[in-house]
Order: sequence, then C-alpha cells, then structure tokens
Amino acid sequence: MKVRRRTTWRNHTGNQHCDPLRICVPESLEDLVGLVKEAAEQGHTLRAVGSHHSWSDATLTGGYLVEPTGLNRPLELEPELLTEAARSKKLVRVEAGMRVRELNAHLDRNGLALSQMGGYDGQTVAGVISTATHGSGVSFGPLSDFARSLELVAGDGAVYRIEAAGGPTDPAAFEQRYPDRRLVKDDHWFRAAKVGIGCLGIIYAVTLEVELEYWLEEVRTPSTWTQVKKDLHRGEVLEGHRHYEVYVNPHPSGGDHTCMVTTREKTSTAARRAPDRRRNSIPEFLAWFPLTPVIANLLVGLRPSIAPWLLDRALAALADESYVSASYKVFNIGTANLVPAYSSEIGVPVDDADTHIEAVERIFRVAAKHRELGDVYHTSPVALRFVAASDSYMAMQEGRTTMMIELIQMTRTDGGFELLAAYEDELYGIHGRPHWGQFNTLAGGRERIASLYPRYDDWLDVRGRLQASPIFDGPFTKRVGISSEGA
Ligand SMILES: Cc1cc2nc3c(=O)[nH]c(=O)nc-3n(C[C@H](O)[C@H](O)[C@H](O)COP(=O)(O)OP(=O)(O)OC[C@H]3O[C@@H](n4cnc5c(N)ncnc54)[C@H](O)[C@@H]3O)c2cc1C
Repeated sequence: MKVRRRTTWRNHTGNQHCDPLRICVPESLEDLVGLVKEAAEQGHTLRAVGSHHSWSDATLTGGYLVEPTGLNRPLELEPELLTEAARSKKLVRVEAGMRVRELNAHLDRNGLALSQMGGYDGQTVAGVISTATHGSGVSFGPLSDFARSLELVAGDGAVYRIEAAGGPTDPAAFEQRYPDRRLVKDDHWFRAAKVGIGCLGIIYAVTLEVELEYWLEEVRTPSTWTQVKKDLHRGEVLEGHRHYEVYVNPHPSGGDHTCMVTTREKTSTAARRAPDRRRNSIPEFLAWFPLTPVIANLLVGLRPSIAPWLLDRALAALADESYVSASYKVFNIGTANLVPAYSSEIGVPVDDADTHIEAVERIFRVAAKHRELGDVYHTSPVALRFVAASDSYMAMQEGRTTMMIELIQMTRTDGGFELLAAYEDELYGIHGRPHWGQFNTLAGGRERIASLYPRYDDWLDVRGRLQASPIFDGPFTKRVGISSEGA
C-alpha cells in the first residue's frame, strides 16, 4: 500500500483542500481492513475519497485520507453465493474506486448498461452512491437506488456485506465461503448504508443492478419559462418522457426567461444506423477550444452584466433536433463538464402545491435582488432535473418525487458563493435539501438535519452500529452537526 505524508489534498475544482496526516492508497480489501484497524487503534480519524469531484467539504480530513485508485477492478459476481431469484437478474460487482466511465466501458464490453446516470462519468462508484448523485427522469431514483449490495469496512475493521432483506446473497453459502465476514440482510441497514456520505464505513465493493445495453435519442428544444411552468403544472411532461430536464436562464429577457428542454427516449435498433445523428457540435467545439471557458470566465469577471446575454446565447447554441448514441454517451452532457465552475444543488418536492415551480420563481427573485443591489450576476444556466422518490434515508430524494435544482457558477463569479448561500436559505424554507456532494452551508445539528431529512434518526441508529468511535468524523460532519459526539 502506498502512503504519502506532508501532501496537501485538493478537490477537482480546487475550492476544498486539507493536509491529512497521511494519504493512503490501499490495493486490496486486506489493506483497507489493516488501515481502518490501525487508525482505530491510534485514535485517528479516517475518510474515504472518490475521485475528488465534490464541491462540498464532504471528503476533508485531518486524519488518514483513503484514496481509491488501487481499488478499481471489476470483481467476480460469485454466482454460487447468489439466491435463486438473484441469478436471473443483471448484476455486476465492482470495486468501489472504479470510475463511472470505467464501469460503463466494462458494461459495454458485456452488452450491459446502467439504467440511469448523471450528466458526467468522472466520479467513482462509491462517490456517486455515497452522495445520492442522480440524473433526470421521474421513473429513476438516484444511483444509490441501483445498488443491491454493499461490502464495507466498519469502524472496528469488521467486513460487512449489507443489502435489503430480499438482497442477492444466499446467507448459508456466504457464511460457508466467508465465515469471518458479516452478512446483514435488512432493509433498515441498507437504506442507511447506501447514502453514507463517508460516515458509515469505507465501501470496498458494490453490486449494482443494470440492464441490457440500449441506445437513446436526445432532443433539445428551445422554450420559455412561461411554457415550462405550464408543462410542469400539468405534469404530463414528467411521466411522458423517459428523461426530461430543463436549463433556464435565471435572468429575464423580453419579459420571460429563456429555457432549453432536453428529452431522452430509448430508440429502436433502426435509429442506430442513421448516419449524422450527433450532438450539436457548436457548444462541444467551443468547450474543447482550450481558452473558451477561460475567456467566458474572464469576460464575466470583467463585465458581470454580460452574463444574462451570454446565458441566452449559450442556451440557444444547445438546440439539437436529434442526437442518437449508446445510452451512457447520451447521458453524459459532454465537454460542458470541463467549464471551470462550482455548484450547489437543492432538492425540492414535486407536489400538487407546485412547490417546485415556486422554488424556481424564488431563485429568479434572489438572482434579481443580487443583480440589482450588488451588481452580482448568476453566471450559468440553472438546471432542473427530476428524480423518483428514494428509500435511502439520507438521499435528497428520500420519500418524495424531487426536482433537483443545480445552481452552477463560473469560478470567477464575484459574490458567487454568497449568492448560492442565499438561494439555499430561500429553498430550505420550502423543504429544500442540499446535495451532499455540492457546495452547501448547512449547519445546525440534529434538529435542523432531522427537519430536512425525516429518517435522520434511523440513519444515526445504523451509523452507531457501524461506527462505535468517531473514526469517520471530519470537518464536514462537524460543520453540518452530524459528528458522533454531537449526534
Ligand atoms: C463535473 C461534475 C459533474 C457532476 N455531475 C453531477 C450530476 O450529474 N448529478 C449529480 O447528482 N451530481 C453531480 N456532480 C456531483 C458529484 O457526482 C458528487 O459530488 C459525487 O459524490 C462525486 O464523486 P467522487 O467519486 O468524486 O467522490 P468524492 O467527491 O471524492 O467523495 C464524495 C463522498 O463520497 C464518500 N466516499 C467516496 N468513496 C467512498 C468509499 N469508498 N467509501 C465510503 N465513502 C466514500 C466521501 O467520503 C464523500 O463523502 C458532479 C460534479 C462534478 C465536478
């Protein structure tokens, strides 16, 4: 196992950093167990990281930091350990540090595919599961909901396999093969462990349910907030498309707000043979030109009032009649992910009271106030994505169909973090919940968290069983108020 000392760790965007005691790179489950036992014995804290893509402080530690780059291999499914029912399912088992893009390549080689994913593939499997990372489409929960079994190392170094009561592992066969590991088949445990934000153990491996490979057709249609609002109020657009999402300019132009609606549907095999059905190449080309995002960033820094115009142009450039490709290529929003930016994301309920519509209009009002009073401009389109209710206790989508509102800012945005904090305050007032991996300022301890996440106490119950000492605590748990001592 490689160990680095006196090394500053930084996240992907560079807005978070820490100086851990050690950065450790385990290469096997045995390495991981040894590491957790050593940290526990010496009374140090320890946190796992994925591929550093969280904008929040969720990964930071002053203790041991566990890098997953040596734990990124596909694993044998071990069919002899599966129940009869599980053998007929499409399951795949991989080490937790595998990136989503490596997982997609592995699935593609085997004629399989994820049913859903976010707009990017650079994160690790454990990273996306631990923060309830999601895509868009009301029939699909966050990625944590596709996990069927988690293998993790608890705070005392014990190795657990945790899954739902109807999970894929046969207890007798497992006990015989792994007498030194603990199999827990229990809905309560599994709902807590899936979205653990690094606080319930170090995930070593994940078994995911996937499906046969398929292709998607994506269409991007220009629209206005007036139209999108009507569509969201009626609601058929959400059920009527496999995937439906909206980008909206938070600044008005001509009395309305420019929108771009993206839909994705499964295509027939015939569509695969159509010759030129590629994604609109203009934004792709612009984002690849190395200076373009930097120039846009500089321009906004020098003349913030250009932002509303730039956003309208950027949205217009996204229009596309048809892009057809393998599902995982269409889910990925492409080079837009390379723009230097940071982001908050808040989940609000989609309900008959139109809370989700009210949320967007609150954002418009906050953006207008900051623009008019402080000359502060929101510098990217706002993304609205729709996710099915999740059973993971700490998922932003727990117990309710959710609209996730992604509030992206270019890195040079003056007053950008303050603007994001103002949106957060506004949205917490209407049952908003922050994405754990994205920038957020949530604080306030047990009562506050429980008011946003009704299953928080259930999550704490399982955490207490997996972590007897505060070994997985860190700056994030202290800030949010979920450290073991404060729980
Ligand atoms: C360009 C970009 C695009 C994004 N797109 C989306 C999107 O489309 N949808 C969306 O919902 N989010 C999106 N995000 C947010 C991102 O998916 C989450 O922040 C995700 O958690 C990052 O995964 P990671 O592998 O980088 O993990 P990290 O950010 O390194 O860690 C995230 C959390 O997972 C925990 N963790 C990591 N590995 C383990 C392990 N082995 N065991 C236990 N805990 C672990 C960490 O402790 C931490 O709490 C995006 C972020 C970026 C930068």
